[in-house]
Amino acid sequence: MGVTRTLGVGMLGCGTVGASVARLLHDGAPSIARRTGATLEVRRVGVRDPGRDRSVPLPPDAFTADLRSVVADPSVDVVLELLGGIEPARALIRAAFDAGKHVVTANKELVATHGRELLEAAAAAGVALRFEAAVGGGIPLVHPLRESLAGDRITRVIGIVNGTTNYVLTRMTEEGLSFDDALTEAQALGFAERDPTDDVEGHDAAAKCAILAALAFDVAIAAPDVYREGITGVRPEDIEFAARLDHVVKLLAVAELADGEVAARVHPAMLPREHPLASVRDSFNAVFVEGEHAGQLMFFGRGAGGAPTATAVVGDLIDVARDIARGARGPAVVPVADRPIRPIEAMQGQYYVCLHVADRPGVLAQVAGAFGSNDVSIKSVWQEGTGEEALLVLITHRANEGDLRRTMDDLRGLDAVTEVRSVMRVEGGE
Ligand code: NAP
Repeated sequence: MGVTRTLGVGMLGCGTVGASVARLLHDGAPSIARRTGATLEVRRVGVRDPGRDRSVPLPPDAFTADLRSVVADPSVDVVLELLGGIEPARALIRAAFDAGKHVVTANKELVATHGRELLEAAAAAGVALRFEAAVGGGIPLVHPLRESLAGDRITRVIGIVNGTTNYVLTRMTEEGLSFDDALTEAQALGFAERDPTDDVEGHDAAAKCAILAALAFDVAIAAPDVYREGITGVRPEDIEFAARLDHVVKLLAVAELADGEVAARVHPAMLPREHPLASVRDSFNAVFVEGEHAGQLMFFGRGAGGAPTATAVVGDLIDVARDIARGARGPAVVPVADRPIRPIEAMQGQYYVCLHVADRPGVLAQVAGAFGSNDVSIKSVWQEGTGEEALLVLITHRANEGDLRRTMDDLRGLDAVTEVRSVMRVEGGE
């Protein structure tokens, strides 16, 4: 393809992702020009501190603290939003649409909470909004779900979509570390933020789960619709019991279509060791997709980091450049299906329950009675330790989550049960 034109790029943000994007655009310029027929030129870069040396191949006078001026610059055709957070990112993207500019964003938080509004605004303005980097970093997921698999009926998406928590759980599993020690190690190695709340409480995974569910099932679903539990309550003993069952503990993002309803949830779960996701270690991410016709697919790779994420941003930018060259309009596909969101209480699953109990005759019968009276059937049970330290570990058959919760309430009311220590879902079983 001969190079016929120059496309002006405006960058909002030049941090971890932005700097990698600038380097990739510079180093890959000849191949990008061949693929798109256009030279992509970064003309304006909006940051907080324009004077700081960022060691990026961009002219110093491209930098400005006036973010609006990047969007308004008439020489900018495409805006890359790489700031993060809701505002000012949202207002700037809207301003870019109003000015007829296409937008590529890596902002999962924004897409997960205001995705529908932004897609509608892009569609109304006749421009594209692309966000491959917003979920799975360098792992292609948006394109496969939205385009490659559009002819299939996806029934379930299950993923490990947060590298920090996967690293922490891997260290707890392989080295027997406590949650606190594994997190401290992850922070020292740069795998966890100083304030890890967003990751360890599952907020980051819930945002990605909402985006995956919206793409897979063509529904408007936002991060607050996703049921969420983090990994702070996972104890070494849970991991040990999981191992004895030939399972591993992972923080899973699950989006399912069942009886016309969409269920989306993020929580730690025990997964059989032979499940493809069980072997995803350290800070790697993977997403397992089940389609009615395509069957099982798995996407694996680096879910974060400047360089992997930049490949997704630049890939989207190349798509935009190709669309512009063809006079086509890229996707601003607004979700159309109107499906109810299934509450977590209606979920059906298998559960692991660990109880601290008094070690005396009749306790097991009382515990079994609480399960039985709530229609939760026990698959297996075993006792660990004696006397004050006795632990009762139970695995249920498939049960309704609401029934399971009522069982836990009843157990808490029994004299014989000192503590309901852990309740964890078991995926991939019955
Ligand atoms: P970052 O390193 O904190 O960089 C943010 C950039 O935006 C900085 O250049 C900062 O300017 C600028 N900025 C932020 N708020 C601003 C404001 N109010 N006014 C002016 N400039 C502002 O963040 P990042 O890691 O590159 O992440 C960027 C986006 O990519 C986020 O949406 C994130 O969720 C997403 N993402 C990141 C990764 C990853 O691995 N890092 C992976 C996937 C997606 P200064 O440099 O002057 O402070």
